[in-house]
Amino acid sequence: KVSEIPGPKSKEMLARRAAALPAGLGKSTEVVVEKAEGALVWDVDGNQLIDFAGGIGMVNLGHRPQVVVDAIKDQMDKYLHTGALVTTFEPYLEFAELLNKIIPGDFPKKTLLACSGSEAVENAVQIARYYTKRPAVICFEGAYHGRTLLTLSLTSKYALFKKGFGSYAQDIYRFHSPNVYRKPDNFTEEEYIDFCIERFDQNLISHVDPSSVAAIIIEPVQGEGGFIPVPKRFLEKIRKVCDEHGIVFIADEVQAGAGRTGKFLSIEHSGVIPDMVTMAKSIGSGLPISAVTGRAEMMDAPHLGGVGGTYSGSPIAVVAALATVKQINTPEFLEKSVHVGDAIRTRLNTMADKFSCIGDVRGIGAMLVVEFVKDKKTKEPDMDFAMAVIKKSVANGLILIRAGLYTNCIRFLPPIVITDEQLHEGLDVIENAIQEVLNERK
Ligand code: PMP
Repeated sequence: KVSEIPGPKSKEMLARRAAALPAGLGKSTEVVVEKAEGALVWDVDGNQLIDFAGGIGMVNLGHRPQVVVDAIKDQMDKYLHTGALVTTFEPYLEFAELLNKIIPGDFPKKTLLACSGSEAVENAVQIARYYTKRPAVICFEGAYHGRTLLTLSLTSKYALFKKGFGSYAQDIYRFHSPNVYRKPDNFTEEEYIDFCIERFDQNLISHVDPSSVAAIIIEPVQGEGGFIPVPKRFLEKIRKVCDEHGIVFIADEVQAGAGRTGKFLSIEHSGVIPDMVTMAKSIGSGLPISAVTGRAEMMDAPHLGGVGGTYSGSPIAVVAALATVKQINTPEFLEKSVHVGDAIRTRLNTMADKFSCIGDVRGIGAMLVVEFVKDKKTKEPDMDFAMAVIKKSVANGLILIRAGLYTNCIRFLPPIVITDEQLHEGLDVIENAIQEVLNERK
């Protein structure tokens, strides 16, 4: 199914890309896509690849799910846009009502739509500031919240995302974030979480007056940071601090949400209820749509015209999202997500026993990473190893992408509709790639 990647046509297009597009535009692999279906992607040279990246989780339902394609086609026959700032149309209402119902929290909720994850986060923070009449925002080490100036200010990992783009927004305070894999050796896991909770209080004393904090924003499972699940007790601590000081708790579920972890939102695994949730990526099966769902009194705070935009809920994207979320929010889909996750985890754990280069396998449900290290004991990150494995895997027909503060993790994010056969075929490709890279290094 795979000859040469990139093949001749792809090489030609990659050259055109270099000439026509800015050098800084992200490109995780050299694959030039011709078409995609389910968990499979074909490149312009006719190579067939299995997609274990799903565009960082943009396609939990798979590429071009029929229900979404049908919904888009139907909508195309009605209207593509409702005209200037007419944000009253049925699919928008239905989608908002659906999210208001399924997002956890036994209180009235409202939903605002936008186009990207960054925009959802930007809106959530602005609404929290308006509601609380406070300026400060607390975010965390290793976080990723977007590329607009405010959301980039909330984002971590300086060299890759932030270098050269400042000045950054004011009143942003970055706190320590738990990473159980990289805890000091002399702590048990529980002691380390206690330490992180204590550190949170210290950070609060050091950095900012809590009564000036509008929001605390956190990814319940860090995405770009390397799929680091935030411990339940740490999330409970944030909830407690928010309650004590009237701070808005924002859960950024842009990457971890939409059924990826076996629940609709990843924070549901902890039982902690946020005040506002941001969602994007997989809720639209690839169309540009994002959402902020939050407590009605908070969402209602900004004045008329204070939120929205030309594409705040573009009809085509809204119907795609409505069809997607209806399908994701079913027991069958969420069970499949757990099944896919279990199958990957079992294979990865076996690989971790066999290969000295695998330091950690972690994540929740079907949101998993492998962290590559030079030495299991010292845990020294091995970014080059992860890169070499990805290169070999892509050459053998498996699309993978990296993550992590040290960019030494490989993400496992296949569409949940993947078949067991495709899943194991993909896992065989990566297992062989790891073995080959190890052999070459001997
Ligand atoms: N928040 C999180 C947790 C993300 O992972 C991302 C994208 N990687 C964003 C926000 C920004 O989303 P977008 O790229 O759609 O602006």
